[in-house]
Amino acid sequence: MNVRGEIVCLHCGHANGSWSGTAGTALTYSGCATMPEGVQPDEHVRCQRCGGSVFLDGASHLSALDRVRRIRRLRRQLASWDDEAA
Ligand SMILES: [Zn+2]
Repeated sequence: MNVRGEIVCLHCGHANGSWSGTAGTALTYSGCATMPEGVQPDEHVRCQRCGGSVFLDGASHLSALDRVRRIRRLRRQLASWDDEAA
């Protein structure tokens, strides 16, 4: 089951962006929406402000239906970009 949530620092409360991946797995940079420079995808995510440990806040399951909706939305966006470029 895939989940998505906000990466929040346990120490300073800084929000470090969103993360998505398999429920119950370690928070590594590979799941980050935007990966900071100088880190490896398999490294555990640390707070960008203080270097502290982080947790996944407000994690919600990504259902197959959500995925289908996102794919449709992305296809519409791509089609509109193609129309603009033509
Ligand atoms: Zn922090």
